[in-house]
Amino acid sequence: MKRILIAKSAGFCFGVKRAISIADETAGKAQEPAAGEEGPIQSLGPIIHNPQAVERLEKKGVRVVGGVDEISCGKAIIRSHGVTRSDRSALERKGITIIDATCPFVAKAQDHARTLSREGYAVMVVGDPKHPEVKSIISYIDPGVPVITSIPEMKKAKGVRKAGIVAQTTQSFDNLMAFVTEAMKRFPEVRVFNTICNATTLRQEESTRLSGKADAMFILGGYNSANTRRLAEICRAINPRTHHIEAAAEMTPEMVRGAAIVGVTAGASTPQWIIDGFVERLKGIWDGERIEVSFYQ
Ligand code: SF4
Repeated sequence: MKRILIAKSAGFCFGVKRAISIADETAGKAQEPAAGEEGPIQSLGPIIHNPQAVERLEKKGVRVVGGVDEISCGKAIIRSHGVTRSDRSALERKGITIIDATCPFVAKAQDHARTLSREGYAVMVVGDPKHPEVKSIISYIDPGVPVITSIPEMKKAKGVRKAGIVAQTTQSFDNLMAFVTEAMKRFPEVRVFNTICNATTLRQEESTRLSGKADAMFILGGYNSANTRRLAEICRAINPRTHHIEAAAEMTPEMVRGAAIVGVTAGASTPQWIIDGFVERLKGIWDGERIEVSFYQ
């Protein structure tokens, strides 16, 4: 018998589900515009890091723009990563209607960063400084307050007595702890907000266990999705037969040759229909076999 084990946490997290439903609802209202509802709908960057889902939204009238400069009227959807304070102000100045789909967990990290900076802490943001979420968190730190995003920077910091730490929501607990440990050695006062989102940890833990059980492991999600790529890395370290694919059509019979158990998980920005499509395609490849499909937790 062949088995397909699907990680229970695979696919959309709470914040992405919410952002997509806000975008869908906004696009839906645009189909029947009431007074004041007219105008183009633009999302500041792709709403989620999944090209197939973005294409679906585009068909419903949600146009992806690269920056505030490209928006002159209508509505702007802020995606789950959030947006910088200056971009938000620029939209307000232009009179654009802001549809805010910032994930509440990201908003919390922004709030903590602002509060720490106002209470005299140098602010350390554990994460990738080029990532839009980290840029948005940093933008909430009051001007003039030292901002540190790496341990080498921390080692060079002079005159800091109070250090406050927040993390990009998708960071690993180990990374956060490495920062905390180093900060404790250097500064008399350290205040930490654990802003890591459980959705990421849960998905990573579950996928790690599943990849140890599976003969072949599949990670579904956009190649541009950091959390999907990270899942693939973690699973590959356990199971060398790990494949990161964006869509079911990329799976070849060779990838599952000889496998009795196939594990599948998906990034937080992967829609359910991509997971369903994968299962259907695998059933097709295994045509004639007895197949059991179940969730893995
Ligand atoms: S991973 Fe967590 S913080 Fe990020 S959008 Fe999803 S629920 Fe929000």
